[in-house]
Amino acid sequence: MEYTRLRGIGVSPGIAIGEVFLTARVIFTQRKEYIPPHRVEEELARLRAATERTREEIGRLKAEIEARIGEEHAFIFDAHLLILDDPAMRAGLDRLIREENVRAESALSEIHENYRRIFESIADEYFKQRQSDVTDVLIKIYKNLAADGPAVPEDSQGKILVAHELLPSEAALRLSQGGVLAVALDMGGQTSHAAILARSLNIPTVVGLRNVTAKVTGRDRLIVDGTDGEVIINPPPAVRKEFQSKKEKYDAYRSELRKVATWTSETLDGVRFTPMANIELPEEIGHALSYGAEGVGLFRSEFIYLQRSTLPTEEDHFAVYHRLAEEVAPHPVYIRTIDIGGEKALPQLKIELEPNPALGLRAIRFSLRNRELFRIQLRAILRASVRRNVRITIPMITEIEEIGEVKILFREVKADLEAKGIPFDPAVPLGVMIEVPAAAALADIVAPEVDFFSIGTNDLIQYYLAVDRSNEYVSYLYKPLHPAVLRLIKFVIETALRAGKDVALCGEMAADPLSAIVLLGFGLRTFSMNPIFIPRIKKALRSVNLKTVQRVVRKAMALRTAQEIEEFLIEKLLIKHPEVFLQLGHPS
Ligand code: PEP
Ligand code: MG
Repeated sequence: MEYTRLRGIGVSPGIAIGEVFLTARVIFTQRKEYIPPHRVEEELARLRAATERTREEIGRLKAEIEARIGEEHAFIFDAHLLILDDPAMRAGLDRLIREENVRAESALSEIHENYRRIFESIADEYFKQRQSDVTDVLIKIYKNLAADGPAVPEDSQGKILVAHELLPSEAALRLSQGGVLAVALDMGGQTSHAAILARSLNIPTVVGLRNVTAKVTGRDRLIVDGTDGEVIINPPPAVRKEFQSKKEKYDAYRSELRKVATWTSETLDGVRFTPMANIELPEEIGHALSYGAEGVGLFRSEFIYLQRSTLPTEEDHFAVYHRLAEEVAPHPVYIRTIDIGGEKALPQLKIELEPNPALGLRAIRFSLRNRELFRIQLRAILRASVRRNVRITIPMITEIEEIGEVKILFREVKADLEAKGIPFDPAVPLGVMIEVPAAAALADIVAPEVDFFSIGTNDLIQYYLAVDRSNEYVSYLYKPLHPAVLRLIKFVIETALRAGKDVALCGEMAADPLSAIVLLGFGLRTFSMNPIFIPRIKKALRSVNLKTVQRVVRKAMALRTAQEIEEFLIEKLLIKHPEVFLQLGHPS
């Protein structure tokens, strides 16, 4: 029998087998429809009425989602209200109707196209995905222009949801009902709302399939493999059987993970370590804690700029940090000040394109050039620190002069809060990311200036080895176990510890079992990573003996290549601790 297999991106692991529920694609009008000039006021009134109906609709959705799956998932609707009231967007719509005499539908579609172009030019995947919030709001207004308002969505329970794109509010509504077996989308990425929500609700999901909606009908049966990013249309019995057994294995693995999350984080010889989570949205907190995170080691605050089309206010920042501090307490939260600029350009900041963004005006360089924005962020973080579990991390430090400048600003902001009687934690720790090789080489000079280091190996390795790992021609050179990289990281960790400072590592290297064991041998105890990897790292570190690891790592450091080091570690650790290499990843 004919059957089709499609490859996409698996963004929420697990396997489901079931019938298709195909949702209609949301489409704006492509035609420019005109109105006579005397109807302009009437058209503006129609748009205003639809905007107000949309406001009520968003309010209703927010309450509904909050009641179903909690406040953390209803948060996107606050962002949608901000988009709805964005003065620039509203002025743009009014102008099109008034000056070009077009119908409100055409104006919405043109504004949507403008935003689409802006978002498309953004290189950063995470930022790009935020276009869906703007589309979501505009499409709601569009549907509310119709006299009978938006249609009531059909029930997708017990089926596999297949759609071109799943807008944030639709994702929240449909997935929170429970009963959706899996999701398969033409569009989307790892950091789309649909992906984040699906992960936290454990719904197997594959996105980026390009044309799944064109290939299936409502009568088809599908297999969605969210672990390996595959969708199979009308599988024959043999394939179904194969995936049924894969599904059973995966389900057993999931229940094992939940068990691991409750185990203590200590090595065989009783040495404690702390797994933490890297997150980008407050909605991810519950998910992170359920995987056993003992704190948030990296909160990438850039997202706050993405959920709105104007600049965030101090209150916008504060709402997020306060929520993080409350929900993660008593564990710590490391809030990293924004890492934007360069390729993470944002429309509202009018950043000029740079010839070499990775080496350009990004992160702390950007914040020191835009001090008012930086002050607002520091004030908001300080105000959220009253529970005494907040730490501030400064990204991309290159020289200590930058730390000096940050401290001056930090003191000014604190003095101002004090003068106004606004409470904050006077001892809030201030640390730096070690991700520029120069800062790593200066670790002994940087350490006395700060309260902690957070080693960002994603950037550190790419700058140190001069390798862009997203470039397929050179990515083979990107090696966390490269002896030069290991020497540098060892120096940073040992220097921090000697100076009595905390040191954490928050690059993806922390999520790799073999690398994590080496880092443990260097003295690292705080490992921050994508929460889904926490159980496997916990398992790996719990199955080793620190004394053995130290001895093996010491010998490994005398080797000449990444390959020699890897083989040596496997050989020596496999003999002592075979458990490390068993059952570490998702079963495939
Ligand atoms: C890093 O560079 O390792 C890091 C954690 O920061 P980001 O991935 O956000 O650049
Ligand atoms: Mg970085």
